[in-house]
Amino acid sequence: MSAARRGLMLVLSSPSGAGKSTMSRRLLAADPAIRVSVSVTTRPPRPGEVDGEHYHFVSQAEFEALIEREHFLEWARVFGNLYGSPRAPVRDAIDAGFDVLFDIDWQGAQQLAQNQFRKEPDADLVSIFLLPPSMQELERRLRARADEPEAVIAARMAKARDEISHFAEYDYVLVNDDADACFRNIQTIVAAERLRRPRQIGLFPLVRALLD
Ligand code: ADP
Ligand code: 5GP
Repeated sequence: MSAARRGLMLVLSSPSGAGKSTMSRRLLAADPAIRVSVSVTTRPPRPGEVDGEHYHFVSQAEFEALIEREHFLEWARVFGNLYGSPRAPVRDAIDAGFDVLFDIDWQGAQQLAQNQFRKEPDADLVSIFLLPPSMQELERRLRARADEPEAVIAARMAKARDEISHFAEYDYVLVNDDADACFRNIQTIVAAERLRRPRQIGLFPLVRALLD
């Protein structure tokens, strides 16, 4: 039997194309204790993206009203669009013992570290940064994923350098070379972080019962 625990805020960041979405999908499919934080964005939906599932798509004015109402745990401007993580669903999930996965950039990861619900250093937050094995491979993956205009690929590659420069702000850094190996490493990190003593809030009654 394992003791009750508080949920984790699990942040996965990487330069675009390094494999965050792939790893997030696999993690969510493999682990029913993990929920995903669905962000709000002013970016228009891409083909196949569903409102409320991939993102909540809103106008700039709607996004600004949400900022005013302190709806976000963090928000940032990325590639000229606004993105933010709603506060309430995250708090509810964590209190219920679920882990919440965030696919957000380094600006969001920094803000989450400052805005955690508990104030102890690194109380609920575990951050993982994925690096591509090389810039050539990153570009190959960006091109393989979607038929995007040359200018968009160039902009993503330029932004990748900026994103990569923040790697040292993360708890864990993985090179996503072999996808299976990378996924196993993420699962290992999650398993170990769940077992950290301060997160196992059911330990005190359990140990008391053991010693009685
Ligand atoms: P991100 O969410 O970081 O932008 P994606 O998960 O969309 O990146 O991955 C970009 C492309 O690279 C996708 O076509 C995906 O299938 C592929 N990919 C992801 N991980 C690997 C890997 N380890 N080896 C080869 N291709 C990969
Ligand atoms: P995309 O438009 O390709 O879905 O996402 C672009 C970038 O925005 C990615 O790096 C993604 O991680 C980041 N992003 C998505 N949602 C959020 C969010 O809510 N907050 C922050 N800070 N970044 C986000």
